[in-house]
Amino acid sequence: MQDRETDGHRARKRFGQNFLSDPNIIRKIVDAIRPQPGELLVEIGPGLGAMTAPLIERLGHLHVVEIDRDLIARLHERYTPEQITVHAGDALKFDFSSLTAMPDGSPSADREPALRIVGNLPYNISTPILFHLADFADQVKDMTFMLQKEVVMRMVAEPGTEEYGRLSVMLQYRFRMGRMFDVPPGAFRPAPKVMSSIVRMAPLPKDQLGAKDSVLFGQIVTAAFGQRRKTLKNTLRSFMTDSDFEALGIDAGLRGERLSLEQFVAIANHCSARAQ
Ligand code: SAM
Repeated sequence: MQDRETDGHRARKRFGQNFLSDPNIIRKIVDAIRPQPGELLVEIGPGLGAMTAPLIERLGHLHVVEIDRDLIARLHERYTPEQITVHAGDALKFDFSSLTAMPDGSPSADREPALRIVGNLPYNISTPILFHLADFADQVKDMTFMLQKEVVMRMVAEPGTEEYGRLSVMLQYRFRMGRMFDVPPGAFRPAPKVMSSIVRMAPLPKDQLGAKDSVLFGQIVTAAFGQRRKTLKNTLRSFMTDSDFEALGIDAGLRGERLSLEQFVAIANHCSARAQ
């Protein structure tokens, strides 16, 4: 498990460092993002700056969140404060809403969501970072990420498929998602072992979400996929009785992977209504 050197930097496995090096792929990704001058855009994990430079060129100014101190030092050397704001630290703990707050620090509740988030995400933290980012959906206009293809397939999976699970339901509940194109391992230094994909996520308007209680919805989805081989009758025992399932016309003998997003919403709303 040796780290290898790229552009004088020893790639760190613990930070999921695989740097994009194919100029055609870099251009294709930046074109897919379509950055417009003056937009509020944040890049997670700029690394050696493969996407950072073309993003700054098109936007004028870019925010980045980077954890690796050596890479942070390079960013400060290469770019001026007019070009880049470097947020040094862990993206999993970063408060993305701080970027959209008004000058007096109050949240921008009644403005159009303006924040755009992009990144070739560190693959070792892909699922937690997606859940962390989902918390800021209200402030976000869109997000474009590169992830392992296998994770992207789970994000966009349909009910009844092997890939369909908690990640699919929780993200499809909050975002409209589309897989854009795949990127082969050869586009990176060092090359990862797996294929990657670009995915775009656009938050759905809040009034379209359907569940009256989003927390309860999340608890039900988590329980339904907690033990994949068990039926809904078992996994949702603490939420639903046989007659609750009957009232909704849902077969309690099914497994969670057969239920559509709308059926999960119906279960959550049935439980909220019953609790009142
Ligand atoms: N964007 C660069 C590229 O495409 O060449 C680098 C991508 S590399 C897959 C992931 C980047 O995320 C690295 O720069 C790494 O240091 C950074 N990173 C890893 N974990 C992070 C975390 N928790 N918070 C912020 N950045 C992180």
